[in-house]
This record gives sequence, structure tokens and C-alpha cells, in this order.
Amino acid sequence: MTEEVQPRHIADGKRPLVSVIVPCYNEEESLPLLYEKLAELMDAEREYRWEVLFIDDGSRDATLPQLRKMCAEDRRLGFVSLSRNFGKERAMLAGFDHVRGDCAVIIDADLQHPPHLIPEMLRHWQEGYDDVYARRTSRGKESWLRRRLSLLYYRLLQRTTRIEVLQNVGDFRLLDRKCIDALRELRETERYTKGMYCWIGFRKYEIRFEQGDRAAGTSSWNFWSLLGLAIEGITSFTTAPLRLSTLFGACTSVAAFLYMCYVLVKTLIMGDPVRGFPTLLITVLFLGGIQLLSIGIIGEYLGRIFYETKKRPVYVVKEHAQSEA
Ligand code: UDP
Ligand code: MG
Repeated sequence: MTEEVQPRHIADGKRPLVSVIVPCYNEEESLPLLYEKLAELMDAEREYRWEVLFIDDGSRDATLPQLRKMCAEDRRLGFVSLSRNFGKERAMLAGFDHVRGDCAVIIDADLQHPPHLIPEMLRHWQEGYDDVYARRTSRGKESWLRRRLSLLYYRLLQRTTRIEVLQNVGDFRLLDRKCIDALRELRETERYTKGMYCWIGFRKYEIRFEQGDRAAGTSSWNFWSLLGLAIEGITSFTTAPLRLSTLFGACTSVAAFLYMCYVLVKTLIMGDPVRGFPTLLITVLFLGGIQLLSIGIIGEYLGRIFYETKKRPVYVVKEHAQSEA
């Protein structure tokens, strides 16, 4: 890193407030385990004040009653409960809107993100970095296909977007207040937060960690939701697919024109009777396919415009309990 960073200035005697954002969807089994680890951490790191904000993303199990109980017992905890399941991306925005810390750490409830890395993140934050993100060195138990697809996807995204979306970097990161405020300005309803971290800029620092397996429960992502997120990533950060269909259209037209000249010359000069039913069929089908694909691509963007122009709130809060920090 060549960029110069200045150590963060913290007024004498003032302990910075660190917020921890935990999006939870059906995490009743993981919560006690996570709380145990976080409490240990908060008790050890006394030079900071702490606040943990759980975002209950419309869980269907006992997550909410459990959060109520936990928050009543430990005043450093608070929660925001959303009126239904809005998805992790939106739950995180709810977190950004409700935390009060000088910096915030986003962490999964399922303990795939080790809390013991937080002190290291805080150290780099003190050094002056604004966004300390954790990169996975292993992805835990994941199928070979999912791993390959993910790799392919990031390559594609990297090539087509002007901003750099980092591979194997998830939402486990520490953000300075400046970053949180910047992210709160990005209020699109179809969100791809991973790209937003890159889009907002600021000084970044990378640390590495081994991602373990879920402590309990199952991942709420399936193939289709991941595919949806992948398309989201592309359509929200680049218009390259549109350009690609323009380019393809132009190339096909030029090729068709040249072919027409060729056929014309051949017929006029050599008197060749026009044949070639299969060629015709192939061409028509091929072009039909390309046209439908292009319409689909335009549709993806149009759909996004449709959702964004409604200007609906990104999430709706059902219940809120603030921590005492
Ligand atoms: N999550 C959420 N809303 C959802 C899905 C997931 O808040 O609709 C939370 C979930 O409780 C967990 C985190 O997002 O804390 C990551 O989810 P998960 O472990 O299912 O994803 P994976 O680790 O497989 O990427
Ligand atoms: Mg997980």
C-alpha cells in the first residue's frame, strides 16, 4: 500500500463507540453462541464502548423473542426487527441507519465470521483506515460447482465494471462512520452492497481469515437466490451487457450485408439459382435468439428502473429496542 494514512485522532479520555451489526434470519440456534463470543470480546476490550445491534430480518423461528430477552439482560445490546423478510442486503441498510458508533463491524450471526478478528480490525481502524475488510482464504464446505461459478462470476464482473469488486470478500468488515454515512446515501431498493463498498471508495485495508462452517441452522441462500444476486451485481454496476448487444447487432448487420453482396454477385454473374433452406433457417433462428436475449437484457434494466422509480422505503421496521450505549 502506497497511500499514506494518518493515525486516527481520538480525543483524550473519550472511548470510541464500536457498533456491531448482526443481520439475523432464523438464527435462534446460533444467537446464544454468538452472544457468548461477543460478550467475551466486549469484556476484554475495555478501551472501547460497545453496542451490538441485531437486525431481525423477519425470522420465522424464535429469534425475535430471544433477542427481546437478550436485550433486556444486557444493555449493550439492541435490536431492530423488520416487518418481514427483506433479505440481508436491506437488513444491513437498516443496521447502518440505526447504529450510533464511531465505526461499525458487520458480522454474520452463524459464526462463520470469527469475532476474535474484531480487535485486529480495530487496530487498523486506529491506524487510520476507513474500511477494514476480511478476505476468506478458504470457503468452508462448499460444492466444487459453487466455487467455480463464483470464480467465473467475479472475473466477469471485474472485466465489465469500472469499479473493482473483490473476490472472496464478503460483508465481514469494519466501516468508519464516514463509510456508513456514505452507504446510507445509497438508498436503492435492489441492493448489491458488495459493489457499494468499492463504489464509495475510502482507504481500505485487507486482513485474511479462514471461513468456518455454519455453527447451526442452514444457509438461506439457494442456487436461484444466488443467481438473482449475481444478476443484481451486474445490472446495478454496469451497462456492459447493453453495449454487448449493440456491438453484436452491429457485427451481425455488417456480416449480413457482406453476405448479401456475395450472394448478389454470385447470382448475377454466375447465374447461380438461390438455394440453401438450412442456412436460412439457421440464420433466422440464430438472430431470433439474439433478439430475444437482447430484449431480455433491456428488460433487466427496465425492471430495475421500474423498482427504483416507485421510491418505496427499503425496509419497514416493526419493533426497535435501543442499546444503552
Ligand atoms: N440473513 C438475513 N436475511 C436473509 C438471509 C440471511 O439477515 O434473508 C443473514 C443470516 O442470518 C446470516 C447472514 O445473513 O447472519 C448470512 O446468511 P447465510 O449464512 O445464510 O449466508 P452464507 O453464509 O451462506 O453466505
Ligand atoms: Mg453463513
